[in-house]
Amino acid sequence: MSADIETSLRSPKAYELARAAIEAMEHHQVWPTVLNFQIWVHYVGHKQSPLAAEIDRLIAAGEPFTESIGEALAAQFLPDTRRNGDILDAGDALSRELSTVSSAIESAQKTAEIYGQQLETASNTFDNGDAAKVKAMVDTLTTATRIVQKENQSLETQLMETNFELIRLRESLEQVRRDAMTDGLTNLANRKSFDEALDAACAEADKAGEPLCLGIIDIDHFKGFNDTWGHQIGDQVLRYVASVIGKAGAAPRMAARYGGEEFAVIFPAESVEVATTILEEIREEVSSRSLKRRSTNEDLGAMTVSSGVAERAPGEPAANLVERADAALYASKHAGRNRTTAAEAPLAEAVAA
Ligand code: GH3
Ligand code: MG
Ligand code: MG
Repeated sequence: MSADIETSLRSPKAYELARAAIEAMEHHQVWPTVLNFQIWVHYVGHKQSPLAAEIDRLIAAGEPFTESIGEALAAQFLPDTRRNGDILDAGDALSRELSTVSSAIESAQKTAEIYGQQLETASNTFDNGDAAKVKAMVDTLTTATRIVQKENQSLETQLMETNFELIRLRESLEQVRRDAMTDGLTNLANRKSFDEALDAACAEADKAGEPLCLGIIDIDHFKGFNDTWGHQIGDQVLRYVASVIGKAGAAPRMAARYGGEEFAVIFPAESVEVATTILEEIREEVSSRSLKRRSTNEDLGAMTVSSGVAERAPGEPAANLVERADAALYASKHAGRNRTTAAEAPLAEAVAA
């Protein structure tokens, strides 16, 4: 949250400001997510700001306040909310650090335990001999060692507690990481995570000498649907389509929300024929279901989706693969929508690695 919003939310007018933000969000059919709340508190609190001017422009143009628009506004006007990447990197570094500390503690515990066992064995050995003096010395040593062990034990307890705390911290960091890689509306992987996964899948395909396909799926005439039924019902439909895609694109495939009403599925080690079949199953599943508005049981009709799929040529850069899948999607749209098109093979010069 940017510093001035933070300050405003601790001022005497804080509740007034928060209420005004919620009211404005409700009025403009904006979900009260944390990010949207940040944006709209800024809007109601800083009416002359460039962010407020941009929101006024969107309202005047009748643009729905979609999640992707929210994200774009935050990135442009509230740069503090852009720190996710930094948090992730810091989280990774800390996570590595914690792993090292945890294993150091575990190994220290093992060493202390072994040391105790060794001394005990030595004492038993002397016990069986006659040398009383030696035994007395060993007993003294053993007592001394017990004291040391006791101290060690309390140190171990302390370290264990620290260790638990570190584990807890690591779990929260992993949660932050998961959240930053997940799309809040659909729970699918988000664009950042898709970009990373596609790069990794390309590298793996080259290493293993296996095929790799990419499918891009776009909801048909979604703007019209939003215009007719409102953006909040549009969001529910996005979730539904995402759930169908998520099931078909479960691991080892990878399904992501690529942007607004566009999704992507990575098909590692699968041919374009298999990928096309899966995309067609998604398409049929979506178009065969007549959607109903839960609150009123009103019939919303069925949605359709169009897809494009491309099989990667060995060495083909990820961006080129995306471009070809996108072009195939465009061909599906052009040919009348509600269909899947497979891309042409890439041009030789686009593949030369
Ligand atoms: P086409 O068949 O050519 O894809 O037409 P379209 O209307 O689906 O495509 P267009 O790109 O014109 O519009 C996409 C629409 O998707 C516009 C935008 O309102 C809607 N949209 C994008 N993201 C969201 C979202 O998060 N929620 C909702 N409800 N709508 C969204
Ligand atoms: Mg569309
Ligand atoms: Mg689109």
